[in-house]
Amino acid sequence: MSAKEYDVIIVGGGVTGAATVRDCALRGLSTLLIERGDICDGASGRNHGLLHSGARYAVTDREGAEECIRENRILRRIASNCVEQTEGLFISLPEDGLDYQANFIKKCREAGISAEAIDPKEALRMEPAINPNIIGAVKVPDASVDPFRLVDAHILDAQRHGADILKFTAVTELVKEGGRVVGVKTSKGDIIRAREVVLAAGIWTAGLAQAAGVKIGMMPSKGALIIYGHRVAKMVINRCRKPANADILVPGDVVSVLGTTSDKVPVETCDDMHATPEEVNLLMREGEQLVPCLAQTRIIRAYAGVRPLVVADPAGDGRNVSRGIVLLDHETRDGIPGLITITGGKLTTARLMAEMATDLICEKLGSSARCETANKPLPGSEGRVPRFKDPFNMRAAIGRHGTEVSRMDFVKGGEILCECEHVTRAEIAYAVKQFGVRNISDLRRHTRIGMGTCQGSYCIQKVAEALAEELGDSSRAGEFVREYLQERWKGMTPVLWGDTLREAEYMHKVYKNEI
Ligand SMILES: Cc1cc2nc3c(=O)[nH]c(=O)nc-3n(C[C@H](O)[C@H](O)[C@H](O)COP(=O)(O)OP(=O)(O)OC[C@H]3O[C@@H](n4cnc5c(N)ncnc54)[C@H](O)[C@@H]3O)c2cc1C
Repeated sequence: MSAKEYDVIIVGGGVTGAATVRDCALRGLSTLLIERGDICDGASGRNHGLLHSGARYAVTDREGAEECIRENRILRRIASNCVEQTEGLFISLPEDGLDYQANFIKKCREAGISAEAIDPKEALRMEPAINPNIIGAVKVPDASVDPFRLVDAHILDAQRHGADILKFTAVTELVKEGGRVVGVKTSKGDIIRAREVVLAAGIWTAGLAQAAGVKIGMMPSKGALIIYGHRVAKMVINRCRKPANADILVPGDVVSVLGTTSDKVPVETCDDMHATPEEVNLLMREGEQLVPCLAQTRIIRAYAGVRPLVVADPAGDGRNVSRGIVLLDHETRDGIPGLITITGGKLTTARLMAEMATDLICEKLGSSARCETANKPLPGSEGRVPRFKDPFNMRAAIGRHGTEVSRMDFVKGGEILCECEHVTRAEIAYAVKQFGVRNISDLRRHTRIGMGTCQGSYCIQKVAEALAEELGDSSRAGEFVREYLQERWKGMTPVLWGDTLREAEYMHKVYKNEI
């Protein structure tokens, strides 16, 4: 039994849990977030990284579209170092016709989203890689957002306002006394008590709730994505038609992400999600319609995530089910006080979801503290980045971490270890200290090490040695290399042909003594 009793325990360290723990902490509530893996282990680390303008939903879901554009504007302000202001183009191909485009522009404007029709020649001048056969294009305020950075920033701010974060620990049970949820039991056998428990565990929420006697109808909707080894466009490129497979291409750092599919999958498969060769084929075929040069661009890996959708029609394929925000007060809904669920929604709307959940928590706890998260910049986006004498090695770090670079020691750790993403030793030391990383896979989420074109072929040995030193045990470098290579295979397997196969063979030769 933990001696400390919290006001709030949040289960799940995706973007929803991270935004909620930040909001609770800013409102002065003593809060603990529990995550069974590292942050972003679920859907939050397996999406496009598109900061929706809402345009994609304008025709089918006006409320969702309005939420997106409001949150899009807020995140550009409070999370400036996580957002790349790329803007977006919705392009129409001859088979799409222009009827959808006309209605799309009207609906965007009704939802408060700027949507400017662009002459196809002008669109091609702006983005030479898009399909030259386009018959129309619309510019919208889409942007690219780094989900890992966004979640990190929320976690950091929560910790700096007194919240506790417990990673690599699963909640195994909700503890009830006299019909009320009074805490959780963890995989370490501890019972931790709280006045309110919030389930923000994505698709795993339904299972946790069920064990406490609460039924939440959720439908796991799998989406597969592929990463191309270069940025082929500056803007987010969407297809201007009813949402379908592979109609979004998002530039992110040095790569491009193409997705997605939408298929109902059994809940038991959600712990081991990977893209299949069939999904990769489908994505490639459709993606080349958007941007033809993708046919010649090396795919570096494929992956998949599961949307936590709440069921309206369990027979649907996932595109018909609500992607809206779902906040459940189990006291009024199920007669179980002490338990709240926040799920559904999107990466883009997580801050708003957290605000709604925390308003309810405050009401339950009798607190009148108001939400400040829309106006308070996140760590990394606060004020001006400090000036450095020789900024070359720090340029990428500044882009990734913004004002947080003032906590990094570039005098001692200025050496660049990952050449693709220009990650320095100073960032490794920072990630070990701030986020408690245990291996290179964790480090990758906090720094982008190994996420670039070479996927770690050139840098992993150096990174492993640096990480082992930072963790105070140089003998662990070989173990780190093996763990990293094993993890990377998963994403490469469905795309192992041509240049990707050559790269994999090369990597194998470089590291064969370590495997
Ligand atoms: C393919 C795909 C593409 C998408 N693209 C976009 C996009 O471009 N833009 C956008 O805005 N949205 C996008 N989304 C939606 C967005 O990713 C999700 O809505 C969002 O990430 C959900 O976050 P979450 O925190 O609610 O859930 P998750 O991120 O799934 O987090 C739940 C967490 O709970 C943890 N957990 C589970 N069980 C337990 C337990 N027992 N104890 C402790 N922890 C537990 C998990 O490990 C996980 O980390 C996409 C989704 C998918 C699948």
